[in-house]
Amino acid sequence: MKKVAPAVVVLSQNSVALARKIITVLPGATLYGLAGRTSQVDVSFTNFGDTLRELFAEGTPLIGICAAGILIRTLAPLISDKRQEPPLLAVAEDGSAVVPLLGGLNGVNDLARRIAEVLDTQAAITTTGDIRFRTALLSPPPEYHLANPDDAKKFISDLLAGEQVKLEGIAPWLSHSQLPFDSHGNLTITVTERCVTTTANCLVYHPKNLAIAISDNSVTLDSIQQLLTEAQLAPASIAGIFAPLTIAAQPAIHQIADAFGVPTRFFTTSQLESLLSQGYHLAAAVALAATNSSGKLLTASSSQMAIAISPQPIDSNTIGQPQGRLAIIGTGPGGLQWMSPEVKDILKSATDLVGYKTYLDLVGSLAVGKQRHESDNREEIARATMALDLAATGRYVAVVSSGDPGIYAMAAAVFEVLHHHHKPEWDSIDIHVAPGISAMQAAAATVGAPLGHDFCAISLSDILKPWPIIEQRIAAAAQADFIMAFYNPISKERTWQLAAAKNILLQYRQPSTPVVLARNVGRPGQRVRVITLEELAPDTADMRTVILVGSSQTQTIKRSDGSISVYTPRRYH
Ligand code: SAH
Repeated sequence: MKKVAPAVVVLSQNSVALARKIITVLPGATLYGLAGRTSQVDVSFTNFGDTLRELFAEGTPLIGICAAGILIRTLAPLISDKRQEPPLLAVAEDGSAVVPLLGGLNGVNDLARRIAEVLDTQAAITTTGDIRFRTALLSPPPEYHLANPDDAKKFISDLLAGEQVKLEGIAPWLSHSQLPFDSHGNLTITVTERCVTTTANCLVYHPKNLAIAISDNSVTLDSIQQLLTEAQLAPASIAGIFAPLTIAAQPAIHQIADAFGVPTRFFTTSQLESLLSQGYHLAAAVALAATNSSGKLLTASSSQMAIAISPQPIDSNTIGQPQGRLAIIGTGPGGLQWMSPEVKDILKSATDLVGYKTYLDLVGSLAVGKQRHESDNREEIARATMALDLAATGRYVAVVSSGDPGIYAMAAAVFEVLHHHHKPEWDSIDIHVAPGISAMQAAAATVGAPLGHDFCAISLSDILKPWPIIEQRIAAAAQADFIMAFYNPISKERTWQLAAAKNILLQYRQPSTPVVLARNVGRPGQRVRVITLEELAPDTADMRTVILVGSSQTQTIKRSDGSISVYTPRRYH
């Protein structure tokens, strides 16, 4: 199950302080509060049921500071698979009770104990095995994998009936539990990275202590599987796929890691230097580095891969670095309703947000807990370079633009920097562009379908291109009878360009041509007006306005409610 940070959900302001106290023992947790009833929360929601169900379906551990019954009734329709369900707990409003409800196989009891401890109360644990043995055999810590869960039910009932168990192998979470250990027990728990045959009387846990190292992209999944089989090692013991950072962008490595369901982690050349100087070949050095040099190396016939067995489980998250990721995202023109689900997901997962302050503010609660790197709107090249440098260190950086990131925004700046100021370390980064709804589309939607036929977009800003080019482009587009969307129509420093554009347009278009002035579309203070070309004046627009100028075919309709709709027919006359 993917590890997701918990959400603490409160319905009233009284509970906010308690929620904050709980969050001190839940790193990365988010506080959700009912809008209108709570303040100073991380995320405000309006619909309790939908919010809870969405979080639950995403696998988010949930702590509701409310009656257990509310949580049960809300989530009942989604309860179907006990292996998949995330922890769900109810905490009494006065902090006196902590009740684990669901997610026994995903650590709800441990979570309940942690919360109860900080609240100085008891967790209402009801799982028999858990109470008696102080450990949940069915949900081992994440660094161990139970190979035969189907045998566990009977195994646990035998233990509860008084059988003794012997432990083979090393696992502190088991040896520190209150299981009835006895070296002559009829039952056995084996902890091993080897493939062993399981029986009903023997539970097998595979510790995640194998580091698989790959030093170039010729290594295939088959060859790794073959190596594992020859060495009789269990794939469930693989902690991660490790490689030099220089090949982090090779898709093959990530496909292999995905096939085993483990992370990829990378080492810089300087991290490998000392092992290489001791004569290890690259893959061997990587494998050993993944075990902090404490592992036993298994030699493969090919020198492009190696396996090291660590004496204890490997926490991949703390070793080397992940592949850096740079997502250049468009948040749409304003609110969350026009933001793509992909962009929302990226915002949730990113570690760092880079962008103009106004745009980062628009992201609202999705920016909570992220490192923010605000900058001036004009420092595009410096900002793109900084974002790439940051991603190269293994961070997940989201460069945030409003609208679409490829339309008068950051995506082009990032690729320009990649092209002209290339640094070798940037080759390791996974770069992805996530589109958004651009201002012209959102503006068009508010009035009907003005962009229904051939159209073009022109920025009236002459900061990055000379005015004569803009002039010529407007004339050509007007001549070609394109509908036009004007971005950056006017600013404090650029005051005359809009009037000049209008004069050019009037040479080709009727004064009565419909013009849409759309300001702050999708944001608070949205204002959309339909005027004529003749009425277009500098004081009708500003930097937050996009202007749509109709073609010779664009029509207006007066609606019965007094509003005006604008459309351009698809057929040309
Ligand atoms: N990438 C953005 C455009 C950035 S250029 C996009 O695809 O929408 C900035 C210009 O976009 C502004 O001067 C304005 O003309 C337009 N704009 C951006 N957001 C807007 C909004 N919410 N309402 C109206 N115009 C907007």
